[in-house]
Amino acid sequence: MKSKIEVTQQTIKFLEAILGASVDGILISDINQNIILVNKAFCNFLCARRQDVIETNIFFWLEQFDNNAVNRWSELEAYVHSKESVQNIIFQKTTRDVERYFSVNASILQIVINGQKGVIVSIWRDITKQMQAKQKLRDSEENLRKLNMELEQRVEQRTLEVKRARDQFNLILSNLKDPIFVITQDYKILFNNETAQDIFGKELIREDCYKVIKGQSQVCERCPMKAFAESDLCQVRFDQCVNAPHLMGERVFDIVISPIKSYAGQPAMVEILRDITERKKAEEKLKDETENVNKYLGIAGVVILTLDIEGNITVLNKKGYKLLQYEEGELIGKNWFETCIPIHNRKEVYGVFESLMRNELELVEFYENSILTKSGEEKIIAWKNTLIHDDNGKIIGTLSSGEDITERKKAEHKALRQASIIKAINKVFEKVLTTNTGEELGQICLEVAQELSGAKFGCFGEVNKDGKFDSYAISNPGWDACKMPDSEATKILKGMEIRGMQFLPLKDGKSRIFNDPSNHPDSVGTPKGHPKITCLLAVPFKYKGKIIGQIGLGNKPGGFNHHDQEAIEALSVAMVEALMKKRVEENIKKSEENLRVSNKSLKKAMEELKRSNKELEQFAYVASHDLQEPLRMVASFTQLLQNRYQDKLDEDANDFINFAVDGANRMQNLISDLLIFSRVGTRGKTFKTTDMNTVLEAVINMFRQKIKETNTKITYKPLPVILADESQMIQLLQNLISNAIKFRGIDPPLVHISSRPDSRHWVFSTHDNGIGIDSKDYERIFIIFKRLHSKDEFGGTGIGLAVCKKIIERHKGKIWVESEVGKGSTFFFTIPKYNDKK
Ligand code: ADP
Repeated sequence: MKSKIEVTQQTIKFLEAILGASVDGILISDINQNIILVNKAFCNFLCARRQDVIETNIFFWLEQFDNNAVNRWSELEAYVHSKESVQNIIFQKTTRDVERYFSVNASILQIVINGQKGVIVSIWRDITKQMQAKQKLRDSEENLRKLNMELEQRVEQRTLEVKRARDQFNLILSNLKDPIFVITQDYKILFNNETAQDIFGKELIREDCYKVIKGQSQVCERCPMKAFAESDLCQVRFDQCVNAPHLMGERVFDIVISPIKSYAGQPAMVEILRDITERKKAEEKLKDETENVNKYLGIAGVVILTLDIEGNITVLNKKGYKLLQYEEGELIGKNWFETCIPIHNRKEVYGVFESLMRNELELVEFYENSILTKSGEEKIIAWKNTLIHDDNGKIIGTLSSGEDITERKKAEHKALRQASIIKAINKVFEKVLTTNTGEELGQICLEVAQELSGAKFGCFGEVNKDGKFDSYAISNPGWDACKMPDSEATKILKGMEIRGMQFLPLKDGKSRIFNDPSNHPDSVGTPKGHPKITCLLAVPFKYKGKIIGQIGLGNKPGGFNHHDQEAIEALSVAMVEALMKKRVEENIKKSEENLRVSNKSLKKAMEELKRSNKELEQFAYVASHDLQEPLRMVASFTQLLQNRYQDKLDEDANDFINFAVDGANRMQNLISDLLIFSRVGTRGKTFKTTDMNTVLEAVINMFRQKIKETNTKITYKPLPVILADESQMIQLLQNLISNAIKFRGIDPPLVHISSRPDSRHWVFSTHDNGIGIDSKDYERIFIIFKRLHSKDEFGGTGIGLAVCKKIIERHKGKIWVESEVGKGSTFFFTIPKYNDKK
């Protein structure tokens, strides 16, 4: 219900005061649009003073407003009149380009103000800021819209790009031959490419990666998922052998796993597998092959060496390292020539190599050179060389296989040296036969020694009985250079004092080499005009363990070495031997001459002896033969005297007669034996077949009586038939058997005769058990008249064995005795099986 209130002036004032406090503009206007009341804020909106505004027509002011404000106010009023109030009607005012907005709420007042009723109260709120904000918002919204549109366009474009990229990416992924997986933190497969599907099966998404990829029931030990979470590790890569169910057997993968911070909103990892089974196999094969090659290189019996174009070592096998005495691998990269070639031929060898590398020299396929080991030892290597080219045919180095021929070379040199030594020795011995004198041989020996050692000159000689040195041979070059007169030379070369280094070998028998003789403390000067001695080799001469002389050789270019010494030592033995032989030969020649002379006189003497022997034999025969007759007379008459006057004269006469008889008998025996003896040589018979059994039996028969008396036992083995003088064989056995019985001991005599053949003779023996013979008398008993006993002990003439000897000698045999005193004797004699008939 509308109330009609009468507003007084006072009230108005009061109202104005209140309204003045409001920030909103307040306007009260009557139905004629006259302004009844305004507050300060409203006046400010109009930029006018209150008194200028009061009681003015509102239209006046509204005309200053934008957008046909007058009409709109009229519409507002009309609306308010019908509906009592209206809200949020916007008025706009532009003052100096500044737009201000006002939200107007109006209502009709049923009170009377200034006598007017139905006044309209409008409250003007400055909403410029809101409007501006709204505008801004609108602008922003517009911008936003535009932006949005742009964004949408860009998003669309981007989406398209992304889609295209994804398509491309997917295309790449699906075309990639490597399986790729994206795996979540709980080891589920979130993504995989087609290759992965092809290899590991169709349904992989959300599957446990370790099951489908690795075929394991648990998370792989090497899975880096945790490590990714805990550290900033950015990639893991390893090879793994996989035997998953979908794989055809065991495969080897090169696996690269990288973390992704966020994939579909969660941390994950990408696992890319590359099947390297074939590569691995190839690598294994290559490894095997490489190992084989290395093994081959290692076990190769030769040195294998490759050098690059600069001569640096790129390959050297085990054998090479061993030979060079370096640790394996130590020489790689080192320069071969600087490290392993002896300095004395480094330049030359390197020069050859350089020319080869520059293609200026044809490759020498086989090459020998010295190499230097770590310890400084030199070895000789026989190389077989090949050039190494690159794909364009450019030379990039060498490949050489080498064989250590040091020992072979040494052996070859040794063999050569030995051959020359043997040749020299042969020459020396050969010259023994062809030279006439020791001097001549000595000179040749010296020449041979010089040639063998390479010396320019030399001299050798011996120590004389006064302990001085006499030279025996001296080489011409040294001597001519010496320019000494002959007389001086002889003095110097004979009876030299043994002093100075050159004669040291004479003192201790040891060879010497002086390659710097002038600096030796024992150096002795040379004769005036003698060439300077640059080096010297002195070797002693030994004969039967004694130092007898020496050879000195001088001035070999480059000096002497131990090989020269060895060679000359070997030659010196031959030289001494040859010279001694020559000396012996010369002596023999001399002795032969002497012998020839003495032989001549001997022959003469022998003939003389033979003649006188013959004469003597003749004389003995004649004498004994002729003596026999008167002797027989003497004997028979003394016998007669004895028979007739025995015991008829006095005692002395008896003795005298007895002595005379005895003497005559003995004389008869002697003469008879002597006759036998002389007859052996002069009256011997021709040899004929003689059965020695018959001979023996005849002899036994002769001694029958004696055998009986003496209780002798004679045994014998069947004897051979020989060619001999039978009567002399009888004489022989007779003498031996009679002695065997005569010289018996206490026991009855036992005589045993036997024979045995040797290659050319029959050896006969008569053994007895008699008194025996002392060994010192073995020879003596065969000499005529030699007896070991007095006639009282054993009778005899001492001719028996001499006769035996003579008989045997006539038969070209020998006779001897073996015996032991008290134990018996055995007489042996030999008769040739095939004797000449005499
Ligand atoms: P003889 O028998 O006349 O003395 P022989 O010439 O026959 O002369 O012998 C020389 C010496 O050799 C003998 O005197 C005797 O001393 C010794 N002799 C010879 N035969 C034997 C023998 N069978 N046993 C021991 N001594 C013997």
